[in-house]
Amino acid sequence: MSVLDRFGLTRRINAAGTLTRLGGRPMAAEVASAMAEAASLSLDIATLQQVASERIAGHLGAEAGMVTTGAAAALTLAAAACLAGSDFARMAALPFADGFPNEILLPRTHRTMYSRALAAAGARLVDLGHNDRGTGAGVRGLEAWEIDAAITPRTAAFAFTATPETIAALPGIAAHCRARGLPVIVDAAAQLPPRDNLRRLLAMGADLVAFSGGKAIGGPQASGILAGRADLVGSALAQQLDMDIRAEAWSPPALLAPIIRGAAPPHGIGRGFKAGKEEIIGLLVALERFAGTDEAAETAALAARLAGIGAALAGLNSVRTELGHSGRAPVLAVTLDPPSRAAGAVAALLAHDPPVHVGERRVADGVLLIDPQSLAPTDDATLAAALRAACASG
Ligand SMILES: *Cc1c(COP(=O)(O)O)cnc(C)c1O
Repeated sequence: MSVLDRFGLTRRINAAGTLTRLGGRPMAAEVASAMAEAASLSLDIATLQQVASERIAGHLGAEAGMVTTGAAAALTLAAAACLAGSDFARMAALPFADGFPNEILLPRTHRTMYSRALAAAGARLVDLGHNDRGTGAGVRGLEAWEIDAAITPRTAAFAFTATPETIAALPGIAAHCRARGLPVIVDAAAQLPPRDNLRRLLAMGADLVAFSGGKAIGGPQASGILAGRADLVGSALAQQLDMDIRAEAWSPPALLAPIIRGAAPPHGIGRGFKAGKEEIIGLLVALERFAGTDEAAETAALAARLAGIGAALAGLNSVRTELGHSGRAPVLAVTLDPPSRAAGAVAALLAHDPPVHVGERRVADGVLLIDPQSLAPTDDATLAAALRAACASG
């Protein structure tokens, strides 16, 4: 009996991208079977994370890495690492961090709903700069003097949200922060592809970078990567792992050796974000597949599928299609005139059997976005027919 029948669930056609709330990118059979194999074994999780560190480091050009339960968890762990370092008393105090530096600088233009994952560790987010470019009010972005003016003895880190628009500013900000001893945490959860970003953000000077494992990488939905400086990743790992150990009898893996010196910290702030053996193995297999995929061929194949879907909408009144690129993957923009028709088309698609999800970020402008990254090729024809019907009636 399928899990759909067993639990009375309805599957969804996902043309909205790798969205976490729709289950991320469907997993390849190779990844699922590696997870099933891991599920039946007993493994030492700390050793497994050490192996993960070496594999992730190889793919990312990082000193170290670890598997988390998502990019949001990676951000909380990154903040915990920057706040506590290797200090057990600080690890034990989190999320109450009044007694030591706990401020994380965050440009206003980089604040997202995920930024509170940093605050969850006990950090206080300090807003920086203004949003003149975003609002169209002016030409100036974040400037070095604004960073300096915000640094106090309580400053612990700088947070940066990577997007195709912000990435160019990273090297300058990272160099500025490094000179002031401030680690830079980069949220790059959804900045894959391009695969170059696996290495690029660290090469640009990020101290820690967070990627989602359940989005384009195609790993377990509840997986992610935190990678970068070995001392910070080690601190993050120490605050995530189960610490119910006798330190005298334990040989910690290399990543933890500088932290576990005959004594172990208590369960950390990240104890609730434990990555299981299934997630760790699944993420590693998925990362290997992802890194080994020919991106140009993949992009061309996705674009060809979108062209076919766009062709199925030809001849509709006041409907325009345009094949573009989101900065991550090819995307088909379907523009309805007047724009008010788009909300009705989205509702019609959600009422379809099975429900169809499209990108809704530009619905107010009359645009439906078709992102094929999580769309099974076998659903292309159903999607095209549903889209045609929704756009014709909307
Ligand atoms: C998706 C996303 C996250 C969270 O990723 P999870 O792996 O679902 O925890 C964080 N930040 C940004 C910018 C994202 O797009």
